[in-house]
Amino acid sequence: MPSKSGNVSVRTEGGFLITPSTLPYAVLTEEDLVEVALDGTVLHGHRRPSSEWRLHAAIYAARPEAKALVHTHSPRATALSCARRGLPPFHYMIALAGGDDIPCSGYATFGTQELAEAAAIAIRGRRACLLANHGVVAIGSGLAGAETLAREVENLASEYLDLLQAGLEPVLLTPEEMVAVTAQFGGYGRIS
Ligand SMILES: [Zn+2]
Repeated sequence: MPSKSGNVSVRTEGGFLITPSTLPYAVLTEEDLVEVALDGTVLHGHRRPSSEWRLHAAIYAARPEAKALVHTHSPRATALSCARRGLPPFHYMIALAGGDDIPCSGYATFGTQELAEAAAIAIRGRRACLLANHGVVAIGSGLAGAETLAREVENLASEYLDLLQAGLEPVLLTPEEMVAVTAQFGGYGRIS
């Protein structure tokens, strides 16, 4: 991740292990990670958890299959989120997020339970969503999958913004075409 704007977590038996607040990734060590229960109780660690721990907790509570979560403010996806627009099925890789689009949540103040709930709703039935005027959330069955998906959302947002900027109207894939994409992904192994 290019900046400190974002946070990462991995599910544990008791909750999840999350990056701490106000510590640059460059100096982060394992000891700086904080284990937090889904109710916010700090189980292990001497640092304060990321201010977005509620977002992680709400999504882990809602999505038992999620084992890792990556939250970024990657610039192109964040730009799109500021228009409160998600990504339509303009490219087949949209299916990596688990459906026909990558939705954008409603807006809420960062760090709040309201944002956590808005994110859990937006990502329903998907593995990624945008957060309005804020950034990106991606989940996976492991950290590598969640991180790959977060990067792919950034790539897709970049391509989509380029299309819009060129004044071109993307030709969207049909639901049937997206079903075929998902089947094809299933054939060679899912990424997350
Ligand atoms: Zn954020």
